Amino acid sequence: MTKIKPLLPKALPRLSTVAFSTTVIIVSTYIHLPQELDKYASYLDITFPSDEEIKVLIDWHVEVNEYKENFREAEMEKLMPSLKGLTYFEIDRMLDMAMSSNGTLTAEDQSMILQHKKQMVRKSGLLELVDTPANLDSIGGLNALKSYLLKKEKIIKNIGEAINKNVAVPKGIFIVGMPGCGKSLCAKASAALFNTPLLKMDMGSMMGKYVGESEGNLHRAIQIAEAASPCVLWIDEIEKAFSGIGGNDIMTRMFGYFLSWMQDKTSSVYVIATANNADHLPPELKRKGRFDEIFCVNLPTAEERKAIFDVHLKKKGYGSLEPSEKLIKHTDGFNGADIEAVVNEAMGEVFIEQKNLNMETLEKIALRTISISKSCKRQIEDMKKVFAESNFKDATTGNITVKL
Ligand code: ATP
Repeated sequence: MTKIKPLLPKALPRLSTVAFSTTVIIVSTYIHLPQELDKYASYLDITFPSDEEIKVLIDWHVEVNEYKENFREAEMEKLMPSLKGLTYFEIDRMLDMAMSSNGTLTAEDQSMILQHKKQMVRKSGLLELVDTPANLDSIGGLNALKSYLLKKEKIIKNIGEAINKNVAVPKGIFIVGMPGCGKSLCAKASAALFNTPLLKMDMGSMMGKYVGESEGNLHRAIQIAEAASPCVLWIDEIEKAFSGIGGNDIMTRMFGYFLSWMQDKTSSVYVIATANNADHLPPELKRKGRFDEIFCVNLPTAEERKAIFDVHLKKKGYGSLEPSEKLIKHTDGFNGADIEAVVNEAMGEVFIEQKNLNMETLEKIALRTISISKSCKRQIEDMKKVFAESNFKDATTGNITVKL
């Protein structure tokens, strides 16, 4: 005879009893149970289909659509990564749509799948989908960082093949540096370079008012990013979220969760964290194993200022105008945003005066512009000192010691 588990004394309130032998299964993308019920619940994560399962599904579609003879294994390797992070049902629907649109299943269908993933992110409300009109050519200078990204592009664009050859999936980079020097521009250009969506995570918007809500939001945002992978996840001003977290329990837990996700991450979510000040960030974030590399972006050198002028003059249709030595000298201590402002102001001035843009106008405006080095003198000096002692990689030269 089976022994019946003793029930709680009648006087105690109880939410469960073996007498009813009932199990309630709640299926949801949200984890939000009232505290009173939480202790009776067990949580199970339903994982997304594995590579093997996706392959079986692709094979099935190829078979039933009598497309087997035309389908090449190379197409499979290209399609697979973009289907990762979708549910069985979504993959099935994507493959149906791809086959029915033109009767073929090729790597070209990746863009349709990407479009679908973008919609998913938009609906979540936790991450912002950022447009990526910028490409590497719109960044003046920062040559070491640009060539690093070009190398990663080769891996990210061929991630299936890279994984097969035991190449580690790139985790991401941390870009620390002066304000207005192109950190955001790099995040945007990376997504354009890798041909993936750019998702921006704002740690502030993760904070909820209910117990466990903030952690739940971060967990969900990461799940969405994984589902939208391959993608670039841009965490702007990470120092605002994680600096001096010691005193805040919620932030400490969120930080712990973020770190272990970064450590164990195998998905193609390429994380780009940007910060102005890395001084107070917990050392755990900066150690190897989380980010592949930490780059430091300093105020542009003379050569870089010329390159930045070239970028912005070209944008305005004055690509043939060669920045003079005088202009480069007058803009010592300027950041990229200051240089862009000089070009914008000069454009306005020559429009009013009904003439073409020339070097004299640019030089005159540069002379009267208050650069960041003047308006935030003390902060900039302090930042320079911190960077010099940081041991981060110089985004311009690639050297460990940051050039001042
Ligand atoms: P913040 O820390 O204040 O967010 P940031 O380093 O992210 O600044 P960006 O937003 O990338 O700076 O740059 C601000 C503007 O300055 C951009 O619109 C861009 O046009 C211009 N700019 C900055 N750096 C460069 C650069 N290296 N090449 C071309 N343009 C640049």
